[in-house]
Amino acid sequence: MHLNVNRILHTPGASQDFHFEMDLSDLDFGGMYPVVRPVVVDGQVRNQAGVLHCELQADTTLRSVCARCAKEFDESKCVLFSCVLAEEKQEEENEDIVVLEKDEVDLAELARTAFILEMDTISLCSEDCEGLCPGCGVNLNEEPCRCKKQVDPRLAALAKLLQQDE
Ligand SMILES: [Zn+2]
Ligand SMILES: [Zn+2]
Repeated sequence: MHLNVNRILHTPGASQDFHFEMDLSDLDFGGMYPVVRPVVVDGQVRNQAGVLHCELQADTTLRSVCARCAKEFDESKCVLFSCVLAEEKQEEENEDIVVLEKDEVDLAELARTAFILEMDTISLCSEDCEGLCPGCGVNLNEEPCRCKKQVDPRLAALAKLLQQDE
């Protein structure tokens, strides 16, 4: 998605809206392809006192895997990004400035980069996910731990005797 900002380039106060969808289903994130739905991008380029400000928002739903219980779940993802568009490269290196090429900016490239930078390295199905028991392997969100049932009945009897001594 290339946007030509020629119309507003030299008109302070003018703005240009944009809206597009992009497919990031090929985005390999640690062997996973979490972006299963199109990413919807909305934004605006605004000429503020001669400086072009670009703001965008990228929304989608990710298919994630919980780092604790390994369950797949869907999570909504919203990424905000803003930058300044300039006609010429600035003297100072500045990551927030994107240089126009023939009055055009590659919005898909900007949105894609912003999206990748905002991907979480760890996803949890819920903040208080109990995870898997390292002993019996059950998903502790769904069923109780089975480890205790494997205690030898003779040891259990001994434990009871010891308790009575106290
Ligand atoms: Zn979980
Ligand atoms: Zn267990």
